[in-house]
Amino acid sequence: MKKNTYKDALSHPVFTTVAEAANTLGLDTYVIGGFVRDFLLQREQPTDIDFVAIGSGIELAQAVAQKMTHKPKVKVFKNFGTAMLPYGDLELEFVGARKESYDRGSRKPVVEDGTLEDDQKRRDFTINALAISLNKTDYGVLLDPFNGLEDLEKQIIRTPLEPGITYSDDPLRMLRAIRFATQLDFEIELASLQAISTHKERIRIVSPERIVEELHKILACPIPSKGFGILHSTGLLDIILPELTALEGIDEIEGQRHKDNFWHTLEVVDNISKATDDVWLRWAALLHDIGKAPTKKFDKKIGWTFHAHEFVGSKMVYKLFKRMRMPLNEKMKFVQKLVRMSSRPVILSEDFVTDAAVRRLVFDAGEDVDDLMTLCEADITTKNPKRQKRYLRNFDKVRQKIVEVEERDRIRNFQPPVTGEEIMATFDIPPSKEIGILKEAIKEAILEGEIPNEPKAAYNFMLQKARKMGLQPK
Ligand code: ATP
Repeated sequence: MKKNTYKDALSHPVFTTVAEAANTLGLDTYVIGGFVRDFLLQREQPTDIDFVAIGSGIELAQAVAQKMTHKPKVKVFKNFGTAMLPYGDLELEFVGARKESYDRGSRKPVVEDGTLEDDQKRRDFTINALAISLNKTDYGVLLDPFNGLEDLEKQIIRTPLEPGITYSDDPLRMLRAIRFATQLDFEIELASLQAISTHKERIRIVSPERIVEELHKILACPIPSKGFGILHSTGLLDIILPELTALEGIDEIEGQRHKDNFWHTLEVVDNISKATDDVWLRWAALLHDIGKAPTKKFDKKIGWTFHAHEFVGSKMVYKLFKRMRMPLNEKMKFVQKLVRMSSRPVILSEDFVTDAAVRRLVFDAGEDVDDLMTLCEADITTKNPKRQKRYLRNFDKVRQKIVEVEERDRIRNFQPPVTGEEIMATFDIPPSKEIGILKEAIKEAILEGEIPNEPKAAYNFMLQKARKMGLQPK
């Protein structure tokens, strides 16, 4: 019989504590949402567990805290009628069962007390509406009024209510559907997909921060293109990241075509996701070609060009981050830098690679040179196996050269081997433009390989150069 099967989910001592507190208060209580879903999918258990009480969730949280030896502080969110309680590494979230109705202008519902089923109805997806009872009479029983279990088995994202209502009420759910489909590798049922397309404009009432949170989660998946593909086909991407959809399409003039840079970008994102978990490096992959749409031109002699697209793209990164209220900090600068430099190793790998060119690359990329190489390798999406092999081989050569040059010249965190103070002291001169000229000349000589990156060699070089400028040591 099904009845006691799900007691296994409740093996953690936290469930006994919550069940006892609920029993003392006489509140029917259930564990619900992500915890139940992930237990049934045998996924890694989330660190936050959601409980729903038929009555006051806040009172229950307080009673649970009282049962713990160290009496943790309950965080109460009165406006939402919820409470949060830390329990070891876990975060316990409590809410009273509720019924919701929505106003069209906002994502904030009008709330009234309800039954367990009312509460399950307000949940976004059937697989997130599964609840397990903590009550004496039916401890461990799964309550599944919308066939969430079946949807888990069929790997389907479906809403408990008519999808048009669910998505229009809270349009964030459109992104959550796509995110869950990507994370779990599930399919969104057709009616839901259609409803998302129909209500896509409603996404405009969702704050950029919430949108970005979901985009981050999609980007963190093993195959992010699944999510971005659905965002694109439902029309959401055009609203939230139009810079990307502007890359779609292939133009042909005089028999010359360029590649479809939107689908190419998604391939690059998938490629890079095999090589790194760093979500900012994945953002760089997602945005590395956005400058191609505004810079695209057809030149009769050379065909399609995207002149300075890396530079234009890095400027667009700033605007995009600002619009999406993403952090305008070193993370953004990292993404900008990778976008700006995204073609540099490619140019290197096409030519005979000189030490000087590699030194310049390492100098300009600094600490980010390995990430830049990772991006450029992910950028190889040619379907021609010979070409692919050649590119990869050339990148290998560049990587080797980076190691060699680095061992010899330590360019990565370049510090001028002769300081401005030393120059002033040597020639007994005040701060002046000569100092900048000398420092730049030393740096150039090192990058060109004329002198090694060593203080003595740099000092001698400086003396020679200064003499030519009419400066004499004092
Ligand atoms: P994850 O932790 O991976 O995001 P989760 O399912 O635990 O998964 P939460 O955002 O923590 O997601 O939400 C907990 C539960 O609250 C969900 O399982 C779902 O039942 C419900 N929920 C969350 N957001 C919404 C929403 N916008 N609309 C309806 N129900 C929601």
